[in-house]
Amino acid sequence: MADITYKNKINRIRTFALALVFIGFVIMYVGLIFKDIEWLMLIFMVLGTLSIVFSTVVYFWIGLLSTRAVQIICPNCEKPTKMLGRVDACMHCKEPLTLDKSLEGKEFDESYNSKRKRR
Ligand SMILES: [Zn+2]
Repeated sequence: MADITYKNKINRIRTFALALVFIGFVIMYVGLIFKDIEWLMLIFMVLGTLSIVFSTVVYFWIGLLSTRAVQIICPNCEKPTKMLGRVDACMHCKEPLTLDKSLEGKEFDESYNSKRKRR
């Protein structure tokens, strides 16, 4: 992927799920082009359906993750955001956040910087 800026984990998974729905519809649409070749159309339809079913599973997974996510107020933009794990980025301003005081300004900053440098 070209976009390597640090993103909030929940947002990232949500984007992935949305992309799956989109891909599913594209696959099904391609299937319609081959509607004269029945078996080929069927394969595309099944793949498209699987993709959409999988995205539903991912959405369900996000729901589960959200209940475990810690809700905090971002120190940068002062909006409520949810974070997963010890380090995550703000959903609104992509400010790097950490729950672990010992990591503050250390390890996470380094990975954040190297991710930016590769751009
Ligand atoms: Zn923020």
